[in-house]
Amino acid sequence: MADRRVAVAIVGGGLAGLAAASVLGRHGVGVLVLDDNRHPGGQYLRGGRTAGGFFTDGVRRRGFGLIDGLARERVEVVHLAEVVGIEPGFELLVAAENDLFAVKADQVLLATGARERFLPFLGWTLSGVLSTGAVQVLIKQSGVLPARDILVAGAGLFPTAVAADIVTSGGRVPAVLDEARLARRLPLPLLFAGQVLKFARGGLLLARLLAAGVRVRHRVRILEAHGERELRAVTAARIDRRGALVPGSEMVMTAACLAVGFGFTANTELAQLAGCRLTFDPALGGVAVAVDPDLETGVAGLFAAGEVTGIGGAAKSLAEGRLAGIAILRQRGVRFSRETGPGATELRAARRRQLAFARYFNAQHTFGPEWMQRWVSGLSDDVVVCRCEGVRLGALRRAVAAGFEAPAGLKKATRCGMGLCQGSTCRMILLEVLAALTGKPLAEIPPPSVRMPVKPVLLGALAGGRS
Ligand SMILES: Cc1cc2nc3c(=O)[nH]c(=O)nc-3n(C[C@H](O)[C@H](O)[C@H](O)COP(=O)(O)OP(=O)(O)OC[C@H]3O[C@@H](n4cnc5c(N)ncnc54)[C@H](O)[C@@H]3O)c2cc1C
Repeated sequence: MADRRVAVAIVGGGLAGLAAASVLGRHGVGVLVLDDNRHPGGQYLRGGRTAGGFFTDGVRRRGFGLIDGLARERVEVVHLAEVVGIEPGFELLVAAENDLFAVKADQVLLATGARERFLPFLGWTLSGVLSTGAVQVLIKQSGVLPARDILVAGAGLFPTAVAADIVTSGGRVPAVLDEARLARRLPLPLLFAGQVLKFARGGLLLARLLAAGVRVRHRVRILEAHGERELRAVTAARIDRRGALVPGSEMVMTAACLAVGFGFTANTELAQLAGCRLTFDPALGGVAVAVDPDLETGVAGLFAAGEVTGIGGAAKSLAEGRLAGIAILRQRGVRFSRETGPGATELRAARRRQLAFARYFNAQHTFGPEWMQRWVSGLSDDVVVCRCEGVRLGALRRAVAAGFEAPAGLKKATRCGMGLCQGSTCRMILLEVLAALTGKPLAEIPPPSVRMPVKPVLLGALAGGRS
């Protein structure tokens, strides 16, 4: 593809990217959406209309409405396009179908979403151990289950939701094991009153699981996945109020498949590369891109919306995407028409409501520093941290003891995060382990720097791309 010039480039075709693109398209602004998936809609609408599972909701309906409107609003979407770099000015470097091309834009919106957060344990790299997100992708996108019986573990609301997806798809879930205590699930009355539908949906989901005979157990930690090459069994144990193992509580469960997840973490690499400031807020799922009330980052003309500004769910992404679209219009001197939908005041109120929910959502899988220290101190030196480079926890412990207390140094000393996936899985693990080993607050540990290309690029694309 030849290099392109557009008014506004949007990275990410999830709810946030689509909501912004729709506002811009309806006001006649030339907009190009670049997304690395085969279909628009991001994580929430993955698999299309028929993949909704047990429930459908207003956000899904609005999301599919946005997709239906793309052609009418003259929004161009390039699928299977990975934005691997961003340079000042703004020039995006895009890898697509064995090709490499540049997109120049006056303004850019980063709506790159989130990925799953992991906490490693012995055997987590065995075949048969999957992330909860991977199991959901298999169900939504391909309509298959990785196994008939799937043990689900981790912490937070997402593993429970995936367990419900498994049951709805004809699978069996022997148990859901959650690290957090049950009391965390109870929302404050004000939050409950503001989001009754969401909590009713959660309650129904849980009822469905219990009716299917699923045991939901709280304060249980996965200690080890056993097997030669493939998973055979899982050892878990109870933990006390402080996150310490309860002696003698270990239980071994036969399992051929384990789905595990500990919440989400924002995809901040491109923002980091572009020089945006990052913030750290456990209530927003940890590291996120700092934005002003108009969703503009510290870099003029560069906006961010959706999960990348803080983990808060689909409704937050929708509201933020539209809000960013309106702010981009204003910056371009284009008058916003109320006929196209809600304006900035309503959207800001919706965003505030969703940020309140975000605090509740993220609290389900966030644990304090002492808890994390107890958890890391219980892990064996043999636990793999970086799967690509085969770096184990013991190597990190030795490097930290030798004085490598900053992520950049620790990365260089151990090669952790320097493999093919460039730390996409172990980046957060490295930071969390480092915080636990040094006793430093996570907020004070800067994420390792990012370099182009932020995603692996095929040699063919480099060779056939720009010289
Ligand atoms: C695996 C997974 C499963 C989830 N399932 C649910 C669920 O069932 N229910 C729920 O409420 N929430 C779910 N979420 C949370 C979900 O992220 C939000 O609810 C919602 O989808 C967020 O919309 P978004 O537009 O902010 O991000 P996303 O929907 O994540 O959209 C971001 C898009 O940007 C693309 N992208 C990222 N980086 C690049 C790049 N460099 N170049 C090109 N494209 C890029 C991504 O592939 C994606 O298509 C899930 C999240 C994950 C990670």
